[in-house]
Amino acid sequence: MPNRAVHLVTGGAGFIGSHLVERLVQDGAKVRVLDDLSTGREANLAPFGDAVELLRGDVRDPNAVASAARGVRCVFHLAALVSVERSVRDPALAEDVNAIGTIRVLQAAREAGARRVVFASSSAVYGDSDVVPKREEMPADPVSPYAVSKEAAERYVRFFATHLGLPGVSLRFFNVFGPRQDPESPYAAAIPRFVSALVARRPPTVFGDGRQSRDFCPVEDAVEACVLAASSERAGAGEAINVGRGTRLDLLSLLAMLGDITGARVEPLFAPPRPGDVRHSQADLAAARAKLGFVPSASLREALERTVRWYSEGGS
Ligand code: NAD
Repeated sequence: MPNRAVHLVTGGAGFIGSHLVERLVQDGAKVRVLDDLSTGREANLAPFGDAVELLRGDVRDPNAVASAARGVRCVFHLAALVSVERSVRDPALAEDVNAIGTIRVLQAAREAGARRVVFASSSAVYGDSDVVPKREEMPADPVSPYAVSKEAAERYVRFFATHLGLPGVSLRFFNVFGPRQDPESPYAAAIPRFVSALVARRPPTVFGDGRQSRDFCPVEDAVEACVLAASSERAGAGEAINVGRGTRLDLLSLLAMLGDITGARVEPLFAPPRPGDVRHSQADLAAARAKLGFVPSASLREALERTVRWYSEGGS
């Protein structure tokens, strides 16, 4: 029997990472996870048994990443300081984890002879211009330290691909949502906060006027894009590629849809906008289609229903 491929997922105990691990295991791979469990949870990996090896460590630690990368075919680099607000308070930490951490991962992947790195970047690199949809050729204009650090990391992915022979792809995720996303943190994203509030029949808090819009991307789609990016022959030159649904919805419309799904009739509370948040966001998917063969899932509502079901069942 041929040896099963081993892949490394940094940040694999987190929200998107654990869904990616699940998919890779389903596809027959063995998966190593490097995670410091700062926001991720060991319990997210419990269902996968010995198909998954969890190494508890920091992507900034060269020894930890070298051990984690040994013998792997593909590196999916998702570990990051993900909170925009935290990055505003501590820009040096965001740069350290997200940019320097990415350099460490790229170096280890190259030394280990990995075939490719897939990096989780963010739509935040586009900044807050009102021009939508966002195309990859638009100049990056990051407005938060989080976005600055993600853009820097993208450039290192490109540098390693073009100069050091390590194929790589940066995926600019838009607003990813789904089961296992943490609603409790003060920096949590809109959907987990809204859903957990509505399920508990509490009023959700809207930061700003609620007319800001987002391209909400089901986590299954983000995972599919990662898997496609790992093997597509039309990608790997260090390019950045948008991943979303290619549509946008404002927060008040999202709340109305979630109210309909949950049956909750509660008025939201309004709070001041959060620093570093952008006004509108929507992906242009032409590059994702052409380079990855990516097609977003058909129904946003069905993905929201799956998410509501998970939170309604206790969220574990
Ligand atoms: P998450 O917080 O659930 O996952 C991040 C994981 O990285 C966690 O398991 C955490 O413990 C781990 N981690 C953090 N710092 C680490 C370090 N120094 N060393 C090792 N592990 C560390 O967040 P997520 O939403 O699953 O995000 C995954 C990736 O996708 C991140 O890179 C994030 O920036 C990117 N992204 C997410 C979204 C989204 O909407 N969720 C949008 C754009 C980009």
